[in-house]
Amino acid sequence: MPTIFPQITSPHAPLETWQQQLLQSYCNLSDLLNHGIISTEEATKWKHLGEKFKVRITPYYAKLMKNSEKCPIRKQAIPSLKEEDPPLPSWATQTSQEVYGRPTPWDPDPIGDLQKRVAPRITHRYTHRAILHLSSFCAMYCRFCFRKSHLNDNEKNLYNGSLEPALRYLQNAREIREIILTGGDPLSLTDSALEKLLKQIHEIPHIRTVRIHSRMAVTLPHRFSVPLLSLLNQKWNFQLVLVSHFNHPYELTPEAIHSLSQLRRTGITLLNQSVLLNGINNSVACLSTLFQGLYETGVIPYYLHHPDWTPGTFHFRVSIEEGQKLVGQLRGRLTGPAVPDYILDIPQGFGKISLLSSEIKKETEFRNSDPSLLQGAIYTVTAPETRETKASPHRYFDLYPPSIYPQV
Ligand code: SF4
Repeated sequence: MPTIFPQITSPHAPLETWQQQLLQSYCNLSDLLNHGIISTEEATKWKHLGEKFKVRITPYYAKLMKNSEKCPIRKQAIPSLKEEDPPLPSWATQTSQEVYGRPTPWDPDPIGDLQKRVAPRITHRYTHRAILHLSSFCAMYCRFCFRKSHLNDNEKNLYNGSLEPALRYLQNAREIREIILTGGDPLSLTDSALEKLLKQIHEIPHIRTVRIHSRMAVTLPHRFSVPLLSLLNQKWNFQLVLVSHFNHPYELTPEAIHSLSQLRRTGITLLNQSVLLNGINNSVACLSTLFQGLYETGVIPYYLHHPDWTPGTFHFRVSIEEGQKLVGQLRGRLTGPAVPDYILDIPQGFGKISLLSSEIKKETEFRNSDPSLLQGAIYTVTAPETRETKASPHRYFDLYPPSIYPQV
């Protein structure tokens, strides 16, 4: 096995392994209280949220937080009362009923992972690629996560069962050229479990690309240890792509940059996808610093996602107009490859579209003269062709609280 890494010294203390970071993680309100991350008042206030949404924060990520409710790192990690979905006015419930067939737009399966599931742990939406849901474990449970319901109350639906049926499906579906390893976080698997899986995929000749979607470079850069880097550096029958998930420039720490640089040495292609999040990164200054930093680290920021309709994440929503305007303003500031496409995943598994294209048109707008009240709009979107569906028009109902929650 080639050893191309030892000449690089790790910035982490020698004994600070990724397993130790996980063991020392803060996993409930008491842990956060005991480590002085939240106050007694906050712990009492949030108690009734109980175990609704899992908490896990690595000591590494916790150290990036400032002791302020406005801290963009803190908001991504610490539970909030805003995770209670708000009651909607009647015009919004009626519109949701009309467009989505349910009284609220949020949905436990917002992008259709389950709707397009073809065997346990595998989703096959587009003809040439499929998604393997390896684990419901993450080094950190992000408050905005689009799989928040799958990682909590619906965990059994997506993550139960062995991988054997999914691997058999992959062997037989010869049209699949790319497999996306996701979760949760696929790099929460041990090195030996990952190696076993990569070897199994290696034996499937039509799989030409393995894409790993992981937030470890952000929340636990220690994960990219020499054994893992060596594993990724082996000679595989497929190309490897790692898609990281940086949302804010504060996350691009020396440790994170070091891990990304190490990954580049393995020859792996590095991409990043971010989510546009109200109060966290919805400003030109923040996004341009983030994307420039990623680009200069050798990571292409290829997607900026419009938030999905996930329960417990309403307070993070922004309007499509705001997102379009922000990305438009990035164009003049950043070099072309550093500007991501702004993407919407059409609910119920109808696939992704670019919000910078003609695939979306506003149909109706709900503007309220009181800016502290909900606003929204209905759009017509043209869904792409997928494995089961032709390109077709759909309606998309967007709803957002423009001024209840302050912008950054
Ligand atoms: S690491 Fe990814 S899958 Fe896990 S909670 Fe965060 S956003 Fe969700």
